[in-house]
This record gives sequence, structure tokens and C-alpha cells, in this order.
Amino acid sequence: MAQFRITCTRQEPVDEPTAKAHLLAVGTGSRPEQLDVIWSIEEVLMAMDKGHQFYTQSKDSGRTATVEKFVCPSCQRTLIRSTPDADPDNNLDNLPRCP
Ligand SMILES: [Zn+2]
Repeated sequence: MAQFRITCTRQEPVDEPTAKAHLLAVGTGSRPEQLDVIWSIEEVLMAMDKGHQFYTQSKDSGRTATVEKFVCPSCQRTLIRSTPDADPDNNLDNLPRCP
């Protein structure tokens, strides 16, 4: 089992605010500014099913937040989000967009 730090996200539609867009891909890296691998949401969900964990980490406080699955209430799609106790700067929604 491995742990992957999410450092950036890709949302669609890209021109919508995060609250309306869906997070459809993430980048993981060992350091905050680093992007090692881009994962599609399907790849993340499959990895989670195998027992791998994804998390975010605050650059300032170093606090981590677990990433979990949830079902979008509008379209019933399974997506991912950070757990509700996440800090503003380790909340998945507030990470930079992947290049
Ligand atoms: Zn939806």
C-alpha cells in the first residue's frame, strides 16, 4: 500500500468555479511544487480500491488531509474530495490547477 500526495488538480469545465466544476484528474508529487504523475479520476478510484491512499498537505502548517470518495449529488458520479476537517490550504478544492 502506498500513499500519494496530491499537489494539483484538473477540473472540468475548466472555466467554471471549483464549486461547479468536477475534479477529473489530479497530479501527485513528493514535494508541494512537484508534479510526478497525472492520474485520471478513474485511476485514483481504482488505486483506492486496491488500498492505496491519497492525501493533501498544507505548505504552511504541514497538516495533512485525507482524500476520500464521494458521490456527486447532482450527477451521481463517484468523485474524490478532501475530508471535511481539511484546512483551507490543504483542501483539495484549493490546490493549484495542474499545468
Ligand atoms: Zn456531478
